[in-house]
Amino acid sequence: MTFPATRADALAQLEAFLPRAGRAYAATRNDDAGPRSAGSTSRLSPAIRRRLVSEAEVCARVVGAQGFGAAEKFIQEVCWRTYWVGWLEQRPAVWARYVADVARLAGQRHRMLDAALAGRTGIDCFDAWVAELTETGWLHNHARMNFASIWIFTLGLPWQLGADFFYHHLLDACPASNTLSWRWVAGVQTVGKSYAARAEIIQARSGGRFAVTAPLAREAVPLPPDFIPPPQGLRAAGRAEADLRTGLFVTTADLSPETLPLPPLAAVAAMTRIGGAPAAVKRLFAENALGDGLARAAAHAGCAPERLDEADAITAMRDWAARHRLQQVVTAEAAVGPVADRIEVLASALAGDGVRLVTLRRDWDAAAWPLATKGFFGFKAAIPKLLALAS
Ligand SMILES: Cc1cc2nc3c(=O)[nH]c(=O)nc-3n(C[C@H](O)[C@H](O)[C@H](O)COP(=O)(O)OP(=O)(O)OC[C@H]3O[C@@H](n4cnc5c(N)ncnc54)[C@H](O)[C@@H]3O)c2cc1C
Repeated sequence: MTFPATRADALAQLEAFLPRAGRAYAATRNDDAGPRSAGSTSRLSPAIRRRLVSEAEVCARVVGAQGFGAAEKFIQEVCWRTYWVGWLEQRPAVWARYVADVARLAGQRHRMLDAALAGRTGIDCFDAWVAELTETGWLHNHARMNFASIWIFTLGLPWQLGADFFYHHLLDACPASNTLSWRWVAGVQTVGKSYAARAEIIQARSGGRFAVTAPLAREAVPLPPDFIPPPQGLRAAGRAEADLRTGLFVTTADLSPETLPLPPLAAVAAMTRIGGAPAAVKRLFAENALGDGLARAAAHAGCAPERLDEADAITAMRDWAARHRLQQVVTAEAAVGPVADRIEVLASALAGDGVRLVTLRRDWDAAAWPLATKGFFGFKAAIPKLLALAS
């Protein structure tokens, strides 16, 4: 399995996938013959998550190659991602609660949790998925659904710790898609509807790799509902001033900033390394992707790429702005999650020096996010409008 960590490689992987993105994808996308197989899906999620390629670009190429009729299923899956992100944008409290839950539960250790994290539960598919996730940083959607269901309903573990395990390892780890998918499996996202793993379906979809003889939970009784706040509307999108001396700050949330409408740039920078404490495979992927994004952005601006000291980010950012006499810093908007939190802190530090930090929202997000207020069914109706933006 390969997961492109540069924009050029991601575009090449997209091109290679185009012949399979139509009816073949719709017919086989739930098949998961394992990491050594050619794969039934695009395996573009790590690149899309960090916007080495954008949802708009992916959809435009696929519709161009296959036509909307044949490509509808694939487009819908891409739009699931957009929907989840837009849903969480309007309910950041759900992310904050999840983060607090993980912190509260993190100290807990017990035998079943240790066995699950080590891939020693005796459930063959589950143990193999733990190995696959930790070695490659990726799992097929079907494996993710069944993994989460077994974690919650067979092993009886808190969904938040399973989501955190995924987040730590997945190359495509996304606050919205990951947290809300786990919530959906647990039955707290679409209240009363959970996902039950079935041995015969896992056997059928896994290319005969798993016998699944260990008993799985007979029922997936949805967990008690938690409070879902009403949509609170979106943060205001930023607007860059064309006549201010401007620097571009590149983050792992969007690694194609040069495809945004940008004012003339006097400087381009990113942090020295990605934040958090991810698994080694995920860190390597993200560092490589950040290096590629920064290099492209600097080439676009015609200036040297700079790295700001991650360990002292606020001082490094203020110093960078002062050295280049910047009046504004622009950055591609990061959706709810750690990067957005970091940008908020940097924005207030820069504001103290009279420098504005502007987050630029992509047209795709601006059109889609306001529509993610209720279920996916209503959101789906807007897909043709989104595709018109993409073309
Ligand atoms: C418990 C669980 C956790 C998940 N965590 C993440 C995550 O952290 N990050 C993430 O990007 N996806 C997540 N997903 C969604 C999905 O599993 C992956 O996006 C998909 O497996 C990626 O494979 P692919 O690129 O081959 O997808 P394809 O089938 O080729 O689909 C194309 C693109 O559409 C998007 N997509 C496809 N299926 C989904 C879906 N069900 N939900 C949201 N977007 C989708 C992805 O961006 C993907 O690259 C999760 C699903 C579950 C059930």
